[in-house]
Amino acid sequence: MKPLRMCMVCRQRKEKQDLIRIAYQKERGAEIDHSKTMPGRGAYLCKTGDCIAQAQKRKALERAFSDSVNPAVYEHLMQTAKGADDES
Ligand SMILES: [Zn+2]
Repeated sequence: MKPLRMCMVCRQRKEKQDLIRIAYQKERGAEIDHSKTMPGRGAYLCKTGDCIAQAQKRKALERAFSDSVNPAVYEHLMQTAKGADDES
């Protein structure tokens, strides 16, 4: 069994490769963890524009990390989702 992680928006459990990890450290703030090995707290989102748009709308990352999140993080998430869509 591969480990499953839960998308913080739709709460579906998926394999790590189908999700984007966002890492949070107090000093650095939230950032996209492309390597999936960054230290700090992690949150997962589907690689779909829908879940990312919902996360932004509901401030899901802000709530998960109890801190403000740079809007650029959401922009990069959107770009990552678009890239994933192009591949399929
Ligand atoms: Zn999702």
